Amino acid sequence: MKDFHWKRVTRLVGKAIGDFGLIEEGDRVLVALSGGKDSWTLLYVLRDLQRKAPVAYELAAVTIHPGSEGFCVAGLCDRLRQDGITHRIIDGNILDVVNENLSPGTNPCSFCSRLRRGILYSFAAAEGWNKIALGHHLDDFVETLLLNLFFNGAIKGMSPHLLSDDGRNRIIRPLVYVKEEMTRRAAGLLRVPIVGCGCTYQGMSGTRRSWAKALLAQIEQEVPDVKTNLLASMGRVQLRHLFATANECAENGHDAHKEHRLG
Ligand code: SF4
Repeated sequence: MKDFHWKRVTRLVGKAIGDFGLIEEGDRVLVALSGGKDSWTLLYVLRDLQRKAPVAYELAAVTIHPGSEGFCVAGLCDRLRQDGITHRIIDGNILDVVNENLSPGTNPCSFCSRLRRGILYSFAAAEGWNKIALGHHLDDFVETLLLNLFFNGAIKGMSPHLLSDDGRNRIIRPLVYVKEEMTRRAAGLLRVPIVGCGCTYQGMSGTRRSWAKALLAQIEQEVPDVKTNLLASMGRVQLRHLFATANECAENGHDAHKEHRLG
């Protein structure tokens, strides 16, 4: 585990925690463990940091079972038991709900994700976990920004630290500085069992996202820093040079009449 790559990922997560105030003394942090490479990496990095961090925090993982027969959690549970990590599986029968309520034109995986998110938030609130850690990485942040720009006409991305709409949960995304290729390698180092959805809808999760991924890979050949630059742009918003009104600028701490630079 002393591998250079692992240390690099851990350092980037530590920097994100510091930059965005993601974890504080006494926090109870619940990692949403889907069984994919990103959430495994997140869980083990947070566990590593827990031993070294200047603040004390509690850590556990939860897996929302989608209800598909192919979602095999035995290996995942064994590994967590071996490593002494507190873990719960919640059976949500989500696929029954998806099958019964899916309206034409709705992507089943988007619908499924919303349902899973709801179950996760309720569980965290009921059990007193004040922070929910999600495994979104740098590529997810950048792809989401592009998708909103191209398909929704909005400059909107994801926040590393967010209060949920109903105010019950704080969502943190400590992998914000970690590229997807790094989580792939980190999960390989961990030798954890990667669990797929095992569901008939598998592969329908994001044709647009795959397109954005391919587009970024293409641009990266000519602009190697494109992903980190796009990520940085989310922290250097110059409202005055967008369509914000003077009032909106003032609310966000910008002077509409002066050149203003953030970050
Ligand atoms: S493949 Fe899609 S619908 Fe099926 S469990 Fe996974 S996210 Fe849900």
